[in-house]
Amino acid sequence: MSSTALVWLRRDLRLSDQPALRHACQHHDSVIPVFIWDPESEGHWPLGAASRWWLHHSLEALGAALQARGSRLVVRAGDTVATLQTLVAESGASAVYWNRCYEPAAIARDTAVKQALRADNLAAESFNAAQLMEPWQNLKADGTPYVVFTPYWKSMQKQWQCAAPQPAPDALPAPKAWPDGVSVEALGLLPDRDWPAGLAEHWQPGEAGAQQRLHDFVSDAVTDYDDLRNRPDQAGTSRFSPHLHFGELSPAQVVWALDAAGELPTGKGPLSLVRELAWREFAVYLLYHFPHLPEQPLRPTFNDFPWRKPADYADDLRAWQRGQTGVPMVDAGMRELWHTGWMHNRVRMVVASYLTKHLLIPWQEGARWFWDTLVDANLANNTQGWQWTSGCGADASPYFRIFNPVLQGEKFDPRGDYVRHWCPELSAVPGKAVHQPSESVDLKFGRERALAAYRQISSGR
Ligand code: FAD
Repeated sequence: MSSTALVWLRRDLRLSDQPALRHACQHHDSVIPVFIWDPESEGHWPLGAASRWWLHHSLEALGAALQARGSRLVVRAGDTVATLQTLVAESGASAVYWNRCYEPAAIARDTAVKQALRADNLAAESFNAAQLMEPWQNLKADGTPYVVFTPYWKSMQKQWQCAAPQPAPDALPAPKAWPDGVSVEALGLLPDRDWPAGLAEHWQPGEAGAQQRLHDFVSDAVTDYDDLRNRPDQAGTSRFSPHLHFGELSPAQVVWALDAAGELPTGKGPLSLVRELAWREFAVYLLYHFPHLPEQPLRPTFNDFPWRKPADYADDLRAWQRGQTGVPMVDAGMRELWHTGWMHNRVRMVVASYLTKHLLIPWQEGARWFWDTLVDANLANNTQGWQWTSGCGADASPYFRIFNPVLQGEKFDPRGDYVRHWCPELSAVPGKAVHQPSESVDLKFGRERALAAYRQISSGR
């Protein structure tokens, strides 16, 4: 008897190294790839505007790639469980496969899906397509999770294994009749403003764009990655982040592109890149073990931190969001974010430190803004980045270590090229002076106010 499987695609928008798709192709006579738009199922964190822009283009690219292999992407909108059940009924499918997501709301949704499908006597199975290690692996000897990166990474290296990524299938077996779907356009993911023009200039969403970037970076820039990765004035980092987030690229594909046997690379640049991938693993791991982190600090003492109140900081928050603080490195970063949907990691740390320390604004405000504007907005990485920088997270940089945005600029943008590019009003300012804040900014006041606030929680008052 012929059998049909649905492959429910979510954040694994690729055909190569795609375990759910591969499993379906190996075990069934026909395969129906499905995407369901169900923002309600994302809990408190439905996709932000920049992510929706990316998703639109990534789905278009995936649909075209499937068509080239004799298949289709069936797109629907609605409640996930009900939509899958309807599709099963319409197609006569006996199985539904997907690759795992690890956010708390996604875990709850996927558990409900699995239970509902199994209750209907269907095969329902999930796979790992996004992580080098599952987050429930790599625990301490006492069975509890690491909360410090270095021992986590040491232990991960000892257990290192990275299976070879699988190629995309040449063709996908099509069903005799396709279920209906809607167009990607009909999901209304694109913003009505012309803001995404800058995003389109900088990115090519979809698997082909991801593989091109992987190829370009690994064949050239990765050698200097360790030396240049802190320099926002250089194209020194991979810019894999949105591709990894949407699953257009798997971490195993990166590792195997660096080392043809999937071993831990030994070269300085490649090893340093894998270590950053391990930070990505660690972020997912922490979110899995501490699901309250997107809203609350890992260190409970920070629940009592005397942040300023919304009415007092509203103007400062708006100036920060718009890149109008008067601090060149901060403004350059925030404008890069608005224009390209991405910001260099070093500058993410500088702007986050400035918001949470000099401006004493809660880290959750910054995390929300990033969530809406980053094309790589990722709940695990974003939460970790904000908690780390503001001092309340795992392995965090201590709160009292306050980045001086002028010194950061002088060190990591030594000629001022980055700042002059994003803040053209400073283009005539010579040399290092370009990093000096405007006269209205008092960095010393902000620093002392932040230290005083920190003393309040550290003394237990
Ligand atoms: P590369 O330096 O080339 O690194 C390769 C890959 O490793 C990245 O694509 C990413 O997947 C991973 N990686 C690198 N650095 C980190 C890190 N510090 N933590 C976790 N993974 C890392 N990253 C996101 O993907 N999404 C976010 O929403 C996000 N928010 C952040 C917020 C703050 C406040 C901070 C300080 C960092 C945040 N990061 C986030 C981490 C980091 O800034 C980006 O992953 C990185 O800048 C992406 O650029 P890249 O791909 O060129 O990185």
